[in-house]
Amino acid sequence: MTVAHILGFPRIGARRELKTAVEAHWKGSLPAASLQQAAADLRARHWAQQRAAGLDYVTVGDFAFYDHLHNATALFSAAPDRFGFGERIGLADYFAMARGTPQQPALAMKKWFDTNYHYLVPEIGAQTRPRLNRDWLLPEVHEALALGHPVKVVLPGPLTWLWLADAEPGFDKLSLLSLLLNAYFALLAELRQLGVAWVQIDEPILSLDLPAAWLAVYPTVYRELAGAGAPLLLASYFGAVDAHAGWLKDLPIAGLHLDLVRAPQQLDAFLDGWPQDKILSLGVVDGRNPWRTDLVAVLGRLNRAHTALGERLWVSASCSLLHVPVDLAQERKLAPELRRWLAFAVQKLDEIGLLKRALDHGPDAVWKALDEASRAVESRRSAASSCVPAVRARVAALTEADACRESPFGQRIQAQRQALKLPPLPTTTIGSFPQTAEIRAARAAFKAGTLDEAGYRSAMEAEIAHAVRQQEALGLDVLVHGEAERNDMVEYFGEQLAGYAFTEFGWVQSYGSRCVKPPIIHGDVWRPQPMTVAWSRYAQSLTDKPMKGMLSGPLTMLFWSFVRDDLPKREVALQLALALRDEVCDLEAAGIQVIQIDEPTIREGLPLKRADWPAYLDWAVQAFRITASGVRAETQIHTHMCYSEFNDILPAIAALDADVITIETSRARMKLLDAFGDFQYPNDIGPGVYDIHSPRIPAREEMHDLLQRALAVVPAERLWVNPDCGLKTRSWPEVEAALSQMVAAARELRAALPGAA
Ligand code: GLN
Ligand code: ZN
Repeated sequence: MTVAHILGFPRIGARRELKTAVEAHWKGSLPAASLQQAAADLRARHWAQQRAAGLDYVTVGDFAFYDHLHNATALFSAAPDRFGFGERIGLADYFAMARGTPQQPALAMKKWFDTNYHYLVPEIGAQTRPRLNRDWLLPEVHEALALGHPVKVVLPGPLTWLWLADAEPGFDKLSLLSLLLNAYFALLAELRQLGVAWVQIDEPILSLDLPAAWLAVYPTVYRELAGAGAPLLLASYFGAVDAHAGWLKDLPIAGLHLDLVRAPQQLDAFLDGWPQDKILSLGVVDGRNPWRTDLVAVLGRLNRAHTALGERLWVSASCSLLHVPVDLAQERKLAPELRRWLAFAVQKLDEIGLLKRALDHGPDAVWKALDEASRAVESRRSAASSCVPAVRARVAALTEADACRESPFGQRIQAQRQALKLPPLPTTTIGSFPQTAEIRAARAAFKAGTLDEAGYRSAMEAEIAHAVRQQEALGLDVLVHGEAERNDMVEYFGEQLAGYAFTEFGWVQSYGSRCVKPPIIHGDVWRPQPMTVAWSRYAQSLTDKPMKGMLSGPLTMLFWSFVRDDLPKREVALQLALALRDEVCDLEAAGIQVIQIDEPTIREGLPLKRADWPAYLDWAVQAFRITASGVRAETQIHTHMCYSEFNDILPAIAALDADVITIETSRARMKLLDAFGDFQYPNDIGPGVYDIHSPRIPAREEMHDLLQRALAVVPAERLWVNPDCGLKTRSWPEVEAALSQMVAAARELRAALPGAA
């Protein structure tokens, strides 16, 4: 019989029950015992759903109150000493590390591979003494066994956990391995005694470019772990691991999981000579997006594996279902046709169960379900929105010239200086001003239909007028309208573009209790009408200063959405670029002379393997340039990026050829700017001079000091003065205080520039 299983299930609950419970606990209104009960209820429900779908095992260990890597940190007692915890890390300690304490900052947070899910970065060093903490994981295993489920436990692999940890300077992470392995060994031995059937050990780092020293320890590590006697399923995902097929076949593991959605071509390397005593788990249902699986096509692809492996074939999703929304059944407002094309986590369980039955009993046994899946796929393929000939033709007709401004930066900037008449060290902001309770109330009322369009428009215009007055009073040079009308930088545009759909409950965990609801790009993207022009035109009508138009860039629109899987990402990016290019041109035609295209996500899209970077950066840069290049030389294009860390892609950032780039730099004391300096970044640059994440008002001297550092790297005529990012999360009094200091610092420096009167 084929075995059906999943690598993991979303933990948040179909109605975000976990978020509600955890946040209530943080506020003090839900005791720890009740929080634990809420968690146990969710787990019980999710296991029951797995069994109901016909899966052979329930997966235990995928649950986490914050994140699963952090769970391993607690399970192996690896809290950093700075927190001063006792022997056994408890729930309060776990949350203290995640959220920080009055004395200690929280653990750092990073994106989990190329997903939008974040993990807490373990901190390790000579003091770290890993040992098994039985308060974690084991109670959940008991829970599942008590419910009568056949159990497969999942754990992050020791090498993945170590690789993702931050080590103190000079500390060799691998030196911690033997202690860590002792702790894993103790756990595995105990799991085996409890009657756990399988232990899935996740080693997603196998899809990265690992140094030889790390690859070399895999055989020893797994030989040691196998000694504990629990059958081990080593899980790879997010990329191909066939480069390691040779030694993976020799590992003393009982099975291996492959991601055949991201890397279908790797199967052959494993089928060829796969050892008789090992199972192969094939991830054929996409765990990274909400599309319904073409089950018949998948069965066709599984044919050869089924013949070769027989009982040793397992079927699964490509990776944990953590990255998809929980249950499509809740969606009541989606167009029925679109709904038919989708499968969320619960539906993906059913797909995996169906594949198992089709393999074991033949497709005829489940022909109805297979037929329905095929029809859905066909309906998607043939839908008018999936392929809009005019959009396809426009992308196909793109030329090199469409991605080029009409003149080089050196000439453009002269024309812009003449047109804009800005002082040296011009001041500006990144776009948003405080999203006040009134703004949110007006938006909610408009959505609910209790405020009509005219009422909503005048409420937003009043906000814009207020923001313009404030900026004039503060003495800023390039103004913004404040983005009062925007709930979110992707949703606002997605709602106005064809090809996008929005769910009611399509939440996925981003970090801790925070969930996001990515829109779904299901069809060809085009712009039925201007999206921002009326607001910008109105804002410009209130002032003689230049008003900056504000757009989200094509890459951000792509990476913060679920993207269709029937078209290369590059194509979707180019469609988005053309839609946004029209908006840029319309803004220019409406008299807007400065336009900012926000691209905070360019780094996020980087492929996991460096060899794939150039191809990605190529189309990413092309998409941005297409968006930006429809305007005259004297129209100034800005871009903005936060989440720093792009030292290694500076050539691509420069290739965007934005006239001005504003970046987040203040927290790292301008460290990033040094990289721009070393690289000799050619265009104008606005390094953020204050951290907008904190309510703290920066002193004028501080910003003055940062600007002086910046002047050491960037010539004065190319330096701008601005905060790190948008101000939507701050309050007006904070914003006014901080910006008035910022303007004062800029003026002081201006007066001191050589040649200043
Ligand atoms: N223009 C956006 C704002 O100011 C930029 C947000 C971002 O960079 N994440 O809010
Ligand atoms: Zn930003």
